[in-house]
Amino acid sequence: MLNIVLFGPPGAGKGTQSKKLVEEFKLIHLSTGDLLRSEIQAGTELGMEAKKLMDAGKLVPDAVVIGMIRQKLQDNKQAEGFIFDGFPRTQKQAEALDELLENEGTSITMMLALEVEEEELVKRLLERGKESGRADDQNEEVVRERLVEYENKTAVLRNYYQQQDKFQGVNGQGSIEEVYQRLSASIAAAKQD
Ligand code: AMP
Repeated sequence: MLNIVLFGPPGAGKGTQSKKLVEEFKLIHLSTGDLLRSEIQAGTELGMEAKKLMDAGKLVPDAVVIGMIRQKLQDNKQAEGFIFDGFPRTQKQAEALDELLENEGTSITMMLALEVEEEELVKRLLERGKESGRADDQNEEVVRERLVEYENKTAVLRNYYQQQDKFQGVNGQGSIEEVYQRLSASIAAAKQD
């Protein structure tokens, strides 16, 4: 199986690139942000609880997102592989993911980390807020809080995957197509190994 963690701060382009990559490599796209937004739209209790945290730019509890990913892995046993987008975001989530994959007899192939300068991220997120109407993208304070959460809780995962020799940084600046070519080349190379 080909299991990719597409990593990077909010606004790095993980969602956009995932959608393109899954078509080329026949993978399943699992975005915890998208899954949480579906819960909000469906008006579930879980969604309502998560919304409060999401609107404040905070992470939702590990147990919530780990449970969602566990369910999706169970639902997709025939998959050729997955792209994890926005998950894991904490060390605990990364450990849980390793365990879940191990139970399926597989593992993470690599982490591809999109690298983008902070001011470019803020600009992209506020721009997206105007187009998509996503509440957490419309307020600069919330946008900056998400970047702080990323630095405090998520950035450490770089070390987690580096220690396993699975980390690969990718320049996330430039056009969507340019970034896509870089990611696609890295994945194609990993497939050959
Ligand atoms: P995203 O669409 O990935 O930017 O996620 C939007 C929001 O959903 C984040 O700011 C968090 O509040 C929440 N969220 C998404 N994925 C996770 C995760 N893996 N762990 C905790 N919170 C998450």
